[in-house]
Amino acid sequence: MVLPQGTRSRETAVALGEAAWAEMLNDPNYALVVAPDGYQVPEGVLWPSRSSRDPEADPVNIDHGIPVDPVKAAEMLDSIRGRLHAYYDLGANPDEVQPVAIEPHVEAPLGEYAVHGYIDRLDSVQGIEKGVRILDYKSGKAPDKRFAGPKFAQLRLYAYALGKSTDWVPVKLMLVYLNPQRPGVLVEDVTEETLRKTEVELRSNIDAIVNSYETNTWVANPTVLCNWCEFRFPNGEYPGCEAYAKAVETGAVKVR
Ligand code: SF4
Repeated sequence: MVLPQGTRSRETAVALGEAAWAEMLNDPNYALVVAPDGYQVPEGVLWPSRSSRDPEADPVNIDHGIPVDPVKAAEMLDSIRGRLHAYYDLGANPDEVQPVAIEPHVEAPLGEYAVHGYIDRLDSVQGIEKGVRILDYKSGKAPDKRFAGPKFAQLRLYAYALGKSTDWVPVKLMLVYLNPQRPGVLVEDVTEETLRKTEVELRSNIDAIVNSYETNTWVANPTVLCNWCEFRFPNGEYPGCEAYAKAVETGAVKVR
């Protein structure tokens, strides 16, 4: 939905966010997020997956019967409101934005493979014929600008796919972090060099994945985030992650 310029106020955004959340509760995939702890989906029940539905043609309204934990639901709603307020607190003026597409799907061939993705928002950039800015919202905290480079990998892929498959000219990338504790905006220019390097990197990543698949060799790269991975310790049939154990032993990763 794109509201006309002049009507995109904070109050309207919050009201739309609240209405969207009420609508999302009709979808079992979201309702499960705020179900009481320990709630189990009854055996044999199968709901259509989000990805298999066309939201335009098939609005979600499933009588799923999942109970809602009121405390969890209130927290989720607060979190939604908080992120919408964070957007405005960042100084964004949505009335100045001229979106040319919301959530467009982009896809481009790369050798014998293809890369694709959904862009959160594509804005027109004034003064450059067919120039666009690729924008992605993030629900997490803004990273330190010194470590921002790798955060643009996803948007560079979109820029590559957009440049190859449409007549739009990607000129800017923008990441908008909406966690109220540390909101922030990161911006990067797109140049010919960006697109060339992205193509080389994507090819190299695809080659590495294909090679891992063909040789069944999967090299893990443990980081502090492993501390949230349920496979790090022996668990039922799973023997535990050797790479994590080694990284802890050498001190490369600290156990939280
Ligand atoms: S613990 Fe092992 S499997 Fe889990 S994320 Fe880390 S490297 Fe990957």
